[in-house]
Amino acid sequence: MSRALIIGAGGVAGVVIHKCCQNSEVFTDICIASRTKSKCDKFKEELQGKTKTNITTAQVNADNVPELVALMKEYKPDICINVALPYQDLHIMDACLECKVDYLDTANYEPEDTAKFEYSWQWAYRERFEKAGITAVLGSGFDPGVTGVFCAYAQKHYFDEINYIDILDCNGGDHGYPFATNFNPEINIREVSAKGSYIQDGEWVETEPMEIKRVYNFDQVGEKDMYLLHHEELESLALNIKGIKRIRFFMTFGQSYLTHLKCLENVGMTSIEPIMYEGKEIVPLQFLKAVLPDPASLGPRTKGKTNIGCIFQGKKDGKDKTYYVYNVCDHQECYKEVGSQAISYTTGVPAMIGAMMVLTGKWKKPGVYNVEEFDPDPFMEALNKWGLPWTENFDPVLVD
Ligand code: NDP
Repeated sequence: MSRALIIGAGGVAGVVIHKCCQNSEVFTDICIASRTKSKCDKFKEELQGKTKTNITTAQVNADNVPELVALMKEYKPDICINVALPYQDLHIMDACLECKVDYLDTANYEPEDTAKFEYSWQWAYRERFEKAGITAVLGSGFDPGVTGVFCAYAQKHYFDEINYIDILDCNGGDHGYPFATNFNPEINIREVSAKGSYIQDGEWVETEPMEIKRVYNFDQVGEKDMYLLHHEELESLALNIKGIKRIRFFMTFGQSYLTHLKCLENVGMTSIEPIMYEGKEIVPLQFLKAVLPDPASLGPRTKGKTNIGCIFQGKKDGKDKTYYVYNVCDHQECYKEVGSQAISYTTGVPAMIGAMMVLTGKWKKPGVYNVEEFDPDPFMEALNKWGLPWTENFDPVLVD
């Protein structure tokens, strides 16, 4: 019997909620709490009667720690699954500390006024979580999340040392709009318009946005252009995987997306600097978010597949070895199952699995951890069971 407090009621939260309700043996009770309570109630109406999980809802401003604490004291959750936005991470962690509730999220903290994301702020909570005897799992989505678990699995089963990791995130889906983002537009655009970077011999190497392009032929998707981006899991993986010389992250983008993004950037619409408009302060990127399609509405329109995975090069018993592990996910299948497209699905399923790992004691370890610091085996098994099966290739085409 366990109680989960789910914060947020957007695209990813929708999948977490559906998956917890499919897994009512572990998630006997869930409370869906978000800024807009009507969105929480909508999920409850949709699922109640179709699941054994008891669902309650609440209104909460997750930037307000006393409000969060009051909710946690009243609901008494065993874990808090944070699928709101990265800006809320520290506030929710503060509330978890005060109420001694385990914590899990899918994206690392980012201050709202600087598009800079790194783990230092959350890693600073390590000692306090240890002392409180509670577990925080950071970044349990797909990337970060499953990609970290793939790394831990490769390290545990196939390598003595891993020297090179390339994380390849391919979305071969088409939603039919000239421009839309597959998850929160503000977070997505902040991520892709930032400078790129990768880690080489323990140092960060910075690139201009989209400067490094490669072409890769993805299983079940085909050939796609992909671009090197900075991505948060590089920071933790470089510390937690033995023998790393280089680690890079690539994401695919279509030409229409890039042309629109460039144009929006050139006219100043992606800026996070507030401007005055008709006597009111507005942030251009937040205004842009308001006019773009809501990612949650892309579900019925998106066709095609995602393919996300990691290519490893390293050594086993003194010999060179390569290994590629990836998941292929079909947008339309996801929509049929939970009413969301594959980007929300591939994030929400691992969030539910990570929470299950903590609740069942498999990943219960007081402190603040990234996913690759836990035993990957039960998580890998759960991926196959809960909708994200993975494929292995021991002779993959490498990225130059
Ligand atoms: P959405 O914008 O669809 O949903 C965010 C939800 O959080 C909304 O329901 C919003 O409320 C709620 N929210 C925002 N601010 C607050 C607040 N102050 N208090 C309470 N609730 C709040 O985002 P997504 O579902 O697409 O993304 C959720 C998270 O998942 C993000 O952190 C994103 O970075 C992460 N992510 C991680 C990925 C991974 O692979 N690791 C991939 C994709 C996303 P309202 O409805 O009122 O706006």
